[in-house]
Amino acid sequence: MKDTCNCFTENLERVKNHLTESGAIPEGSIDIDVRWQNQVFILSEGDFSPVNPKINFEFRVPKKGGGHARNLRKSDISIVATHCCYCGRKYNRDD
Ligand SMILES: [Zn+2]
Repeated sequence: MKDTCNCFTENLERVKNHLTESGAIPEGSIDIDVRWQNQVFILSEGDFSPVNPKINFEFRVPKKGGGHARNLRKSDISIVATHCCYCGRKYNRDD
């Protein structure tokens, strides 16, 4: 199996070309920005997926005197992918 891959970069490039060639982004458009949703920017060099599945969660905390808070608390976490979802290559990570 390959040691590295550029699946995310290549697929993004392919989609960009498709969007302009198909006319989904009309000719002459400016400030075109095409990117992965939820892309993470990890500062350290490493072999990782730039996009990882996200889990949203929300809840109402219990109040001390009983009942629950009016406002929902919302947050999310991501679970880092172990393999490339396009080619199936395992990311080379130390952990
Ligand atoms: Zn790949």
